[in-house]
Amino acid sequence: MEYKEDLYQKAQSRLTEYLEIRRKRKTPERYEVLKVVCQMKDIFTIDQLAEQMQEAAPFCVSRSTLFNTLEMFAEAKLVIKHNLGRAGLYECNVEPQARACLVCEYCGMVRRLDKIEVIEYLSGIKARLFSVRQPVLYLHGTCRKCAMLIIRANRKKKTS
Ligand SMILES: [Zn+2]
Repeated sequence: MEYKEDLYQKAQSRLTEYLEIRRKRKTPERYEVLKVVCQMKDIFTIDQLAEQMQEAAPFCVSRSTLFNTLEMFAEAKLVIKHNLGRAGLYECNVEPQARACLVCEYCGMVRRLDKIEVIEYLSGIKARLFSVRQPVLYLHGTCRKCAMLIIRANRKKKTS
């Protein structure tokens, strides 16, 4: 796991500001979760975060604490919550940027599409009477694994 000190410093001061304005407690758990979130690459589930937390954190954080903390981070714009009909897909958003995501309609897999030309195009989009804060594009389709399963299932149907 890569440790991004600069990113965490930035995230930490934004969280402190958020908590102070709302008069919420600055618990060490919240900062510990934030530190691990800053190390997550790509989109992650609560399970994946919990796994990383176990490796990284000196204390145990319950799943409900993780869930509530992530919801709070989403409100603080420190993470993006991807609402795709499947609960709990998050992504670190300490440095907001345009993003495009591939979404499999069969297994629910979501991953980033890292095509610089698409990201640049999305970053430049302007809309009338609307201020775009963060462009996120979802491309729905079929992942390779599911496509192979469908082909195999169709072959079985034909032969039986
Ligand atoms: Zn799939």
